[in-house]
Amino acid sequence: ALMVAKKQGKNQVVLFDQEHEAEAKIRLEIETALRGADLAGEISVVFQPQVRLGDNAVVGAEVLARWTSPAVGTIPPDRFIKIAEESGLVTNITLVVVQKALDELRGWSNKLPISINLSAHDLMSDSAIEQIIELIERHEICASLIEFEVTETAMMADLQKATANLMRLADAGYSIALDDFGSGYSNFSYLRSLPITRLKVDRSFIEDPSDPMAEKVLASLVGMARVLGVNCLLEGVEDEIALLMAKRAGAELVQGYLFSEPISALDLRNALAVGRSL
Ligand code: C2E
Ligand code: CA
Ligand code: CA
Ligand code: CA
Repeated sequence: ALMVAKKQGKNQVVLFDQEHEAEAKIRLEIETALRGADLAGEISVVFQPQVRLGDNAVVGAEVLARWTSPAVGTIPPDRFIKIAEESGLVTNITLVVVQKALDELRGWSNKLPISINLSAHDLMSDSAIEQIIELIERHEICASLIEFEVTETAMMADLQKATANLMRLADAGYSIALDDFGSGYSNFSYLRSLPITRLKVDRSFIEDPSDPMAEKVLASLVGMARVLGVNCLLEGVEDEIALLMAKRAGAELVQGYLFSEPISALDLRNALAVGRSL
């Protein structure tokens, strides 16, 4: 946007500066609100069912954070997680998310695996990882029912450190999913060196079914999971066309609006009570 604006003359540049300034101001407002927030009171969690193709059984749920601040309103997670990362606040959010997810599923969490997103900052911090493990251990839930989702981008800052922390989690019995798979680096030899148990193929690969290459690329990503000996979940399945693509590519698991949006713990329990299938 900056390049174009410059070519169009001085007024455009002024306009750009104003937009930039407005954006910086909003960002600061969000950061300030985040610093002053009662995180345990303001952050909530929702659960998006993960569905096994074949029998449509719900075999897990991804935990997703929501934040409504009295000061700045509802901010989407993409946005506040990024700002929280940059301000060193993200591990506090992760801990609140873990705590809330386990609380809300209490008495019942032993039946359904859940996936929790880790941020880059969590992954780079030994103490963050220890705090997360400690918190979960206090809940007496079986570690094998908890999966952590990490992105390739998050690991790139320090691959060695990230790998060591993933090993620590894996040794403690947790499962690890590589999130947004295909959108990042995805070098085979490094993938092989990670203790991952699942690839979560990025939504972008089923966004454009009219692209004749899309299906082939999808099949090759699913094939990669098979070669690695890990399971494969396709995210962002919004409609029947996407579902068909997922099936043809050989995916085993899907997540997306076609089956369910992220829902409350109560709705999730009700959906499962009806017979573990959607
Ligand atoms: P993500 O981890 O890739 O999560 C998937 C996102 O796709 C979620 O957005 C989900 O609601 C959305 N989604 C699910 N099915 C569909 C679909 O069929 N179509 C479309 N268009 N979207 C779908 P959400 O909840 O807004 O979260 C956005 C991102 O924010 C997440 O992307 C993740 O990177 C981050 N995030 C959310 N909660 C947490 C958290 O507790 N911790 C961390 N570190 N990051 C989080
Ligand atoms: Ca995720
Ligand atoms: Ca994802
Ligand atoms: Ca994403």
